[in-house]
Amino acid sequence: MADLERMYIDGEWMLADGGATFDVKNPADGSIVAKVVNGAGPDIQRAVGAAHAAFREWSVLAPKDRGSILLRIQELMQERRDELARLVTLENGKPFEEAKKEVQFALGYFGWFAEEARRMSGEWIPSPQPGKRYWVLRQPIGPVAAVTPWNFPATMVTRKIAPALAAGCTVVLKPASATPLTALAIARITEVAGLPKGVFNVLTTNRSRLVGAELLTHPLIRKIGFTGSTDVGKGIMEAAAKQVTRLSFELGGNAPFIVFDDADFKAALEGAVAMKFLRVGGQSCICANRIYIQRGIAAEFIPAFVDAVGKLKVAPGFEPGAQIGPLINEETRAKVHSLVEDAVKHGAKLVAGGRYLTDDKYAKGFFYSPAVLTGVTDDMAVAQEEIFGPAAPLLIFDSEEEVIRRANATKFGLAAYFYTRDLARLVRVSEQLEYGLVGANDATGYTHEIPFGGFKESGLGREGGREGIAEYTEVKSVVVNLG
Ligand code: NAP
Ligand code: MG
Repeated sequence: MADLERMYIDGEWMLADGGATFDVKNPADGSIVAKVVNGAGPDIQRAVGAAHAAFREWSVLAPKDRGSILLRIQELMQERRDELARLVTLENGKPFEEAKKEVQFALGYFGWFAEEARRMSGEWIPSPQPGKRYWVLRQPIGPVAAVTPWNFPATMVTRKIAPALAAGCTVVLKPASATPLTALAIARITEVAGLPKGVFNVLTTNRSRLVGAELLTHPLIRKIGFTGSTDVGKGIMEAAAKQVTRLSFELGGNAPFIVFDDADFKAALEGAVAMKFLRVGGQSCICANRIYIQRGIAAEFIPAFVDAVGKLKVAPGFEPGAQIGPLINEETRAKVHSLVEDAVKHGAKLVAGGRYLTDDKYAKGFFYSPAVLTGVTDDMAVAQEEIFGPAAPLLIFDSEEEVIRRANATKFGLAAYFYTRDLARLVRVSEQLEYGLVGANDATGYTHEIPFGGFKESGLGREGGREGIAEYTEVKSVVVNLG
């Protein structure tokens, strides 16, 4: 019998109203990792009520004091890093070594925003009239509803709650139903760190329609922070229109990865393999989705890429040396495979992988052999859609102007990468890519210090950086009449 995990509301570990539960499964072997309580309507009301009640006291605490608690959370996450990483691998499937890196990165958001909380200063603006003064201040926006996906069970949570708590907001988090265990473990840490009750609540549920109807549109919720698919985001935006709830969205992507003839060959090759395959096996919103190779280098680059992909180790996450774990579920694996098959049907060539792995240790999990497709064209579904898995479409281009046009021809705008040794080109291309994150000779993604978010249908607002905390504040202008 698997453990029963309770949710955390108003400082208490609770069962769900009605007593329902759902299973969290290990995607590597289908085993049940835990049973988790399945929150219902009354639980949502209770969680929002708790966040509302806790808001006043938390919001007026000195930012430095809020920061001290966040630093303590960071410290405890550091102490329990491997324990948290173990949960990440169990519920998400990613290799344990990668999970450790995720948790290490995730905890850093508490440090960054603990410090930023102290810099939420306002302005004193000169008035054109004598006898008046203008005073502009930032105030925490109020109780926040945060909804997160399964691909980074730790980072997606801390990237939202650290800035919200630092700003003085309270939070009701609804983690992905595939990966609630890491979120609950983080809640336990916030409890030990002394975060007052009601400030951070974790509502576990797989009833996402109910979450849309009762949590996200609750009149006491002042802000929604959502990370997930563009389609779900659009539905939330429509629902939020009724009360003009503030929104921050981190949505889907379709990242171009461009290799110019004059690139540092080895760096571009390693970057492309890493950004395509080594972030949750391609299940990341910033993963390379279309790899554009300039014609002059293609004959050399493509075989080297295929060779490198052939050496990647697909294995259950706890197996030493594992580089690519299982996909999260069968639906995701089937979608990746159908995109590969569709490309082949339309004239692309499958030159590596691209099949279900089903023998022995793979038998009960959602494993897929890393695929490489050549002869891909922009109109194929594999280039148009977010693949979200271990398949690499390779495309050829001739000129800089052409590749920029093709790279930008998508409704998405989250991340883009390119490799060149020409400094003037590096500046030109960086400026012309319509993406929120551009890796110029770099494929390591974002950090705590920089704002991260998408152009176009990839999102609204920014997480991380100075901007990350501003998202959880309202700006107030006070007009002072000295009489
Ligand atoms: P998803 O289906 O949109 O789910 C994300 C979260 O929303 C989950 O907690 C989910 O709950 C919940 N949800 C689903 N339907 C809902 C509804 N109608 N109302 C309210 N909440 C709802 O996304 P996913 O499939 O888990 O994740 C993959 C997507 O996330 C990709 O498109 C990826 O690009 C995007 N993503 C973006 C970023 C970024 O930073 N831009 C980062 C990571 C992922 P359940 O778990 O119960 O379904
Ligand atoms: Mg989904």
